[in-house]
Amino acid sequence: VVIGEHRHTQVKVDLQAIKNNIKAEMDRKDPLTELWAVVKANGYGHGIIQVAQAAKQAGATGFCVAILDEALALRAAGITEPILVLGITEPEYAPLIAEKDISVAVGTQDWLDTATTILAANDVTTPLHVHLALDTGMGRIGFQTPTELAAAVTTLNQTNTPFDFEGIFTHFATADQADDTYFTHQLNNWKTLIAAVDELPRYVHVSNSATSLWHQACNGNVVRFGVALYGLNPSGQELSAPYDLQPALSLTAQLSFVKKLAKGKSISYGATYTAAEDEWIGTVPIGYADGYERRLQGFHVLVDGQVCEIVGRVCMDQMMVRLPHEVPVGTQVTLVGTDGDQTITLQDIADYCGTIHYEIACGLAPRLPRVYV
Ligand code: PLP
Repeated sequence: VVIGEHRHTQVKVDLQAIKNNIKAEMDRKDPLTELWAVVKANGYGHGIIQVAQAAKQAGATGFCVAILDEALALRAAGITEPILVLGITEPEYAPLIAEKDISVAVGTQDWLDTATTILAANDVTTPLHVHLALDTGMGRIGFQTPTELAAAVTTLNQTNTPFDFEGIFTHFATADQADDTYFTHQLNNWKTLIAAVDELPRYVHVSNSATSLWHQACNGNVVRFGVALYGLNPSGQELSAPYDLQPALSLTAQLSFVKKLAKGKSISYGATYTAAEDEWIGTVPIGYADGYERRLQGFHVLVDGQVCEIVGRVCMDQMMVRLPHEVPVGTQVTLVGTDGDQTITLQDIADYCGTIHYEIACGLAPRLPRVYV
């Protein structure tokens, strides 16, 4: 990956905001409930290592990632706390998982049987930490019936097992919605399933950010705190958070070219925008290769505290905006964040693109340097 260190287009991440969000959440919790920071997908685009370190300073006692490589990256960076891989990891990596003291989600008996064979074949004696995933209605991964679950627990509890039965968890599909019908249905499934487990493991967890914020009664003893730690409301606009979430990410650039465009001249591919009168047009060095979507034509940025429309198609690496008046090359452009009394949020961008802020944040390309403030 080539990072644009010599282009003045940057993602800025306020680590103090991340710490504040975590502290605000921890202040609401039972002190025995741990907060594990979800830092998958490069910390939702914010930078996995820097976010993990800030989260740890604020009191996070574990981490969740999506894939084994993210867990390995955290270990390589010196993170020694528990790290849970939330997705399914191929059992062929069981020796590596055990060696690096990583915890994995398991949703089938078959996985346990295959991993047992592989660990034995490799003479691995270090225990492999397992969190049993229960599918209570997300329909993604996990055990669905008490019988299958009980069989897996029996396997894990055998004395000669290569496993450490460390956790059990589920994931809610609708915790971010005002209507809690499906949430309650999942919660009942969860209760039925865990009744099949005589002795619960050390970590019992059901909460993503939304469950933690709006369904505190069923938090288990670990919260998998993701999007809210970045200061983003998991529900979008549907529910309000119990405290002010502080967005950590801003995105800025500098105008690379400024010109007066005569009335009747057009802009960018397809010549889809034509100046209605003589207009000041600025070029911004960012495009869809940076994760600034092509669909954002017609949306806006902030220059000099003023809202400026994105005119013409967003190109791969550049785009044009209509300026209120002449400004010098090098003037700051705010694409996400505040300038004067105007603010653009990731939610605003997501709304314009017809998606959720998660997708916009994760989509910010590795080419954009992350600067920590
Ligand atoms: N737990 C699981 C199993 C997840 O897949 C995710 C993220 O998608 C999270 C927790 C964190 O969710 P959120 O970012 O909404 O807090």
